[in-house]
Amino acid sequence: MRKKIVAGNWKMNMDYEDGLSLFSEVVNMVHDEVTGKQHVVVCSPFIHLHSLAQLAKSNAKVSIGAQNAHQAESGAYTGETSAKMIHSTGAEYVILGHSERRQYFGETNELLAKKVDTALKNSLKPIFCIGETLQEREANEHFGIIKSQLVEGVFHLDATQFAQVVIAYEPVWAIGTGVTATSAQAQEIHVFIRKEIAAKYGQEVADNTTILYGGSCNPKNAGELFAQGDIDGGLIGGASLKSRDFLDIVK
Ligand code: PGA
Repeated sequence: MRKKIVAGNWKMNMDYEDGLSLFSEVVNMVHDEVTGKQHVVVCSPFIHLHSLAQLAKSNAKVSIGAQNAHQAESGAYTGETSAKMIHSTGAEYVILGHSERRQYFGETNELLAKKVDTALKNSLKPIFCIGETLQEREANEHFGIIKSQLVEGVFHLDATQFAQVVIAYEPVWAIGTGVTATSAQAQEIHVFIRKEIAAKYGQEVADNTTILYGGSCNPKNAGELFAQGDIDGGLIGGASLKSRDFLDIVK
């Protein structure tokens, strides 16, 4: 059975102290409701990673992740943070290919493929984000866009490497907009993603791949979304900034 994950993406929010208090609440409250193959991941800004990883040691169900990593191993890249550095804080995951990085920082599938390689080489599990814009959906191009994001971003991996990757389907039109994909729309895309993975790596790998939904997920809609057969949890932005909302989604 594949892992079920609720991952928080704080984005560029939370001062150092605020982040620590929010995370302490999460760590203290995520217990009984998270069983078996269920897991909670919090992806914070870099400045929190080490402290959060220390706090997370008290709870085996909670892990830490970063929101980006550089594609190079190290070197003269002023202001950047490497996968090795992130791993050294105790973080286990890294979000790669978030639509905000694609949009505002010009990250292409080609660059992201390199970032995925460097992350894996440094024992970080990529949470690889894919998803179409509203314009692409309206033009009925969403399946093609998602397929090329998969093919160009992660399908160069071998099956063992791919097994470390979590996929997050985040329709760009649903991120931070309050407009969620319906559970049927999300399920349709998740089935498509799993089929593409099966075609590339075989059914067993596809069945073991965790595919998250992201985009205006909240305590009200999470239940129905996560009840879909191919939706294995969520990547949560806004609602991960309030411990009560985030924990309700986890529940
Ligand atoms: P949102 O963000 O939940 O605020 O829509 C999701 C994300 O960008 O990962």
